[in-house]
Amino acid sequence: MKKIGLIGGMSWESTVTYYQVINETIKKTLGDLHSAEIIIYSIDFDTVAKAQELDDWNTCADIILKAALNLEKAGAHFILIGANTMHKVIPQIKDKLSVPILHIAEATIDRLKKDHIQTVALLGTKYTMCQDFYKQKLIDAQLTVLIPEEIDTVNSIIYDELCKGIFLQSSKEKLIAIIRRLKDKGAQGVILGCTELGLLVKQENLNIPVYDTTLIHGEEAALQSLEA
Ligand code: GLU
Repeated sequence: MKKIGLIGGMSWESTVTYYQVINETIKKTLGDLHSAEIIIYSIDFDTVAKAQELDDWNTCADIILKAALNLEKAGAHFILIGANTMHKVIPQIKDKLSVPILHIAEATIDRLKKDHIQTVALLGTKYTMCQDFYKQKLIDAQLTVLIPEEIDTVNSIIYDELCKGIFLQSSKEKLIAIIRRLKDKGAQGVILGCTELGLLVKQENLNIPVYDTTLIHGEEAALQSLEA
């Protein structure tokens, strides 16, 4: 079994889900008492979130690179960045690593393609929804991407509530209404493109196929750890 190197803490609320889904997938696949070989490097998210706010992506890249190099040194065969937003820094760090990074958007695109989705709603942080580093990957894969008008609302639910472990029924209803409006505009599926969103809205709350990036990324990592 290959060792998975997970950069967690972005926020730690979703790192818990990663740990669970990776182990659940290994258990389901191998049975018996099998569990995943995971090395977690969990960062202090406050530092990252403040650097993001200042548009200081070099500091973000330094933090992720340091974590990835430590995971590499500890024996990780590949790296997971446990947050959609921080995939922004991959171009700055990938050549400095000798192990690959399993990209969260690429894993998600594979699922969307398998399901023949052509138009997809994308919910995430303001960076993920508005900047090119993530959306462009979807567009390059011939997907039409719809983002909500309520960018600040979604962003604030993520940073001011979910990343702090605050789960409000009112915010859940807001997200469900936002997704419903995007469905009315033609979305055939919705990407929960922030690793905390699945803590509040789930497939059973919605009548549109849900692509929860935390679950997809974690499952894919577990399966790849079993590949020769
Ligand atoms: N976990 C979130 C994401 O998937 C937001 C935290 C971050 O900015 O890294 O994008």
